[in-house]
Amino acid sequence: MEKCCYCNKKLPEKEELPQILVEDNRVRLCCDENCAQQAQAFLQYYERYKGLFAVLTVFCIGFMIYGSVGNLRLCQYAFLAMGAVIVVFPFCTPTSIDLWGLKRSKVIGRILGVLVILVGFLFAS
Ligand SMILES: [Zn+2]
Repeated sequence: MEKCCYCNKKLPEKEELPQILVEDNRVRLCCDENCAQQAQAFLQYYERYKGLFAVLTVFCIGFMIYGSVGNLRLCQYAFLAMGAVIVVFPFCTPTSIDLWGLKRSKVIGRILGVLVILVGFLFAS
């Protein structure tokens, strides 16, 4: 059963459904123009910031590891920064997008980001 790549609802039985091109040039179908626009906007956002997201993630994880041996304050800041990065850039894996659709993946990504921030605050206490 094919599902809309944005809202994850079952696709309507129509001949002409809006298509969008995702990474590695696979075509995904959307249930209507609205979903296609939203999905396209998110993919453009992803394309623009995926490099920055990768660099920030590497930095944050580096500081987490570096801070965990001796400098817990630094480790805490690294968690806060990582959480903020995930909230701003809730980029999920293609698997989670297949599972939940883009729309819900975005929300789940943001929730994970907030959890990481909470972990950072726990370090402080
Ligand atoms: Zn849809």
